[in-house]
Amino acid sequence: MIVKRQTTPTLTALEINHGDMIEFERRNGRTVAIEFIDTKAEIIRTTLKQPGTEESGATTIYRFWADCKIAGTAVRLEREVGTQASFYEPWEMDGVHIWLDAVDDIFRFMRETHSPCRLQENCSHARPGRRHARLVIQDASVRICPETVAPWCPLPPAGLRIEDCYRGEDCWLGAYDGASAHGGLDINHPKGTPLYAPIDLDDQFLYNATATGHNNNRWRGIRHWQDGKVWVLTSCHMTHLTVPEHTPLSSGTQYAEGAGVRVGVAEHSHFAFAVLDHGELIRIDPWILFRQMYQDQTAKQAGADR
Ligand SMILES: [Zn+2]
Repeated sequence: MIVKRQTTPTLTALEINHGDMIEFERRNGRTVAIEFIDTKAEIIRTTLKQPGTEESGATTIYRFWADCKIAGTAVRLEREVGTQASFYEPWEMDGVHIWLDAVDDIFRFMRETHSPCRLQENCSHARPGRRHARLVIQDASVRICPETVAPWCPLPPAGLRIEDCYRGEDCWLGAYDGASAHGGLDINHPKGTPLYAPIDLDDQFLYNATATGHNNNRWRGIRHWQDGKVWVLTSCHMTHLTVPEHTPLSSGTQYAEGAGVRVGVAEHSHFAFAVLDHGELIRIDPWILFRQMYQDQTAKQAGADR
């Protein structure tokens, strides 16, 4: 199948199958062909007695890769999850940035019991099963969105550290209890840490609240972009919101005090990110947003120093 996408002011997120060809049109009108030939995942090391079966506090580190042909050249895109390498740079090839977000082969040895993060089912009967690969693409000369991205929480000055993702495992798709792909990014910080809107939001609200009998406060912020895409930002474990629900928020506004409800063994906030693109809600790594927050913070500081 040929999947056509073009550069728009916000990133492109999609899930595809082996044999699919993405024709991505760059800002300059040139098209880059990206073909996914094969994808695979394997455990590098684990403390589990039985891979795939959760054990409290167990750790699993794994890698996954995609063999592709990009603009006619064979390339292997390979990633590691559960180490510092989880915070990765996109590949830049032929003028496009490519983030390889996930492959479904991960779920041979991982479960999806810790927030949704698995790839979607194919809709057609001709092709049963899940999509094979999830990726994010943007023209290398275009930002992930047209606005600066403000810190979602106070950013650890030295960058995100895997040790500070709950017990050192809960990055995006990290192995919670050694066997469950973590459907979000956890950042450890003390109860009461302020959370801010990273971008202008059209709407925001708690979709689960302890006040209505749920075990957690789970918040969602929504942004409709002019190019038709919708971003859905999620945060969990807030003690309370500091703004009324269902009001628009401008970037940088505090909306909650975080890390205070159902935080387990380490006070932390849980962040998730999804993009509604071509009618499909694609869940992707919040690190892509945090990476931009760090870049925008550095640029702002450089501007202030000048
Ligand atoms: Zn979490």
